[in-house]
Amino acid sequence: MIFLDNASTTKVCSDAIASINLACEELYFNPSALYGEALKVRNLIEESRREIATLLGVASDEIYFTSCATESNNWAFERGIKNKKGNIVVSSSEHASVYESAMSQKSKGLDVRFVKLNSDGTINEDDLLSKIDQDTSFVSIIHCSNETGAVNDIGRLCRKIKEINSKTLVHSDGVQAFCKTDVKLKSLGVDFYSISGHKVGGLKGIGVLYIKKGLFISPFITGGGQERGLRSGTENVAGILSFSKAAKYYKAHYDGELIRKMRAYLIAELIPLGAIINGANNSESILSVSVPGIKAEILQHMLSDDGVIIGLGSACSAKSRNNRVLSAIGKTQKEIEGSIRISFGLGNDMEQVMRATELIKNNITKLRGMML
Ligand code: PLP
Repeated sequence: MIFLDNASTTKVCSDAIASINLACEELYFNPSALYGEALKVRNLIEESRREIATLLGVASDEIYFTSCATESNNWAFERGIKNKKGNIVVSSSEHASVYESAMSQKSKGLDVRFVKLNSDGTINEDDLLSKIDQDTSFVSIIHCSNETGAVNDIGRLCRKIKEINSKTLVHSDGVQAFCKTDVKLKSLGVDFYSISGHKVGGLKGIGVLYIKKGLFISPFITGGGQERGLRSGTENVAGILSFSKAAKYYKAHYDGELIRKMRAYLIAELIPLGAIINGANNSESILSVSVPGIKAEILQHMLSDDGVIIGLGSACSAKSRNNRVLSAIGKTQKEIEGSIRISFGLGNDMEQVMRATELIKNNITKLRGMML
């Protein structure tokens, strides 16, 4: 099987599995208990927090474990927006967990301003800056688009936003950027940043919200006071340990150059078939392509029968082919219906990509013949 849907999830890496086994079989104690065994668990959690903080270039006490990046994004919106009368500004390329959080604020009466995208998939800077004013309390801009792979220059945008309104808080969804680009949050200047364990070889069901020190944010989930009183609930110890081990491993082994070569090979082979690359300023790990004259779901099924797994854009939006982000960069309904998302990860190599490319090309030709 050749897995080319790494933006949807990843295989759990062996370092993470070792830490999961430790948490499940030996150190299964409640980290809030006071006996020595529980203290060992607490220490491991704090070590994981330090490891993730180091990868993000922040202090440990700015890292909060959550159940997933969806929760992190929801929390940032629900508690990061303090002025319920002003406006918030959100890019048009956000994941559903940000988009729906913004829509929920809209339904509560907040002025929500969506920013246009450039045809390369990045946020339109002029439109963004024209929408920020003295009443803008919160801005959310995805770091790397899960649909097109377009990467936004968060550091530059954050500086410009704060030049207009220094009180505006900036959130970025970094799920697809973390461990693939060097994410140092202090130089990006953001106030909130969300990441997820299962995109980098950790367990599903673990996320992090970075909250810049000094921001007074109220809890999203209340109860026993875990996560320094801001996110109650007994910690997902296996998930937390798996996340830090996996992230360290992913960062150390991610080979951007190899992935760029695999991506370039695939693009060169698909262009002669009339394929159009969606977006331009992209991360090497995500490739969105529209293949005119095909239905992407059918191609996906044919490839899966051949042992090749590809995506159709965000797994969360895969059921509805009305792709909000591809529409925002000007793709037609036909192009959206024919769009596939190929995303590379640690286990992929050139041999796999050459084999997958051959099968993709064969199936496109077959499908076009069937649709004549
Ligand atoms: N944000 C982006 C950009 C994503 O790609 C995803 C997952 O698809 C999420 C958020 C949600 O992450 P999780 O599955 O941890 O809730």
